[in-house]
Amino acid sequence: HLDLSRIDLAFGSHLVVRQLSLQLEKGRIGCLLGPSGCGKTTVLRCIAGFERLAAGEIRLDGEVVSTPRHMLPPERRRIGMVFQDYALFPHLSVADNIGFGLRRDSAAVRNARVDELLALVGLAGQGRKYPHEMSGGQQQRVALARALAPKPSLLLLDEPFSNLDVELRERLSYEVREIIKAADTTAILVTHDQHEAFAVADEIGIMHEGRIQQWDTPYNLYHRPANRFVADFIGQGA
Ligand code: ATP
Repeated sequence: HLDLSRIDLAFGSHLVVRQLSLQLEKGRIGCLLGPSGCGKTTVLRCIAGFERLAAGEIRLDGEVVSTPRHMLPPERRRIGMVFQDYALFPHLSVADNIGFGLRRDSAAVRNARVDELLALVGLAGQGRKYPHEMSGGQQQRVALARALAPKPSLLLLDEPFSNLDVELRERLSYEVREIIKAADTTAILVTHDQHEAFAVADEIGIMHEGRIQQWDTPYNLYHRPANRFVADFIGQGA
């Protein structure tokens, strides 16, 4: 369960996130959708623990992880992350990439978990390959498996498909939704692509200038936009 309560984030005197609140129940997939520069990535960085809040509070599964005075370090937040540039380790096999966060487990436990994840992302039996032997879409699935390996309580995805061509992006969006649901984790996706947001998310927040204009289901955003910005933004992408 994720709870952001009236957070502010400033770079110097520039307030990039303004009084932003959102709640996401366990197992749900949320999305921050908005134009470039509206502050989406910054919100993810706040949740991950890379930025110090100017105001407000972030809770993860009931625990306060960020306030202006207190920051739980990123590695103690039980968060998995997937970014636009897959950032796999090129010198490690696919299996070793996926098992990277499980180095403290025994080899038997680690191998079993890696096999389970390879199957989950549709790459069973391909653990011995190296990242450069895989397509962009396959590499992104490996990145997703690696993020899920330590069973994070929250998964953060920042424009995970934007390096992929349109057709693959659409197909992978639906697949990734199924994978996240099967892994039974809570997730937040950040994107400027409405199709991606609608394909993956249960709930979407439309962002503009550091604020969420409307947090709602895809259906309601489309049929009951709260204001002109939301109506125009959704209208343009349709
Ligand atoms: P994009 O999709 O282009 O990445 P975004 O919605 O994710 O956009 P952010 O990356 O969160 O937007 O950036 C929000 C604003 O904060 C922008 O005006 C950006 O220039 C500014 N910003 C981001 N990071 C920093 C930083 N480290 N120092 C100063 N300003 C920053």
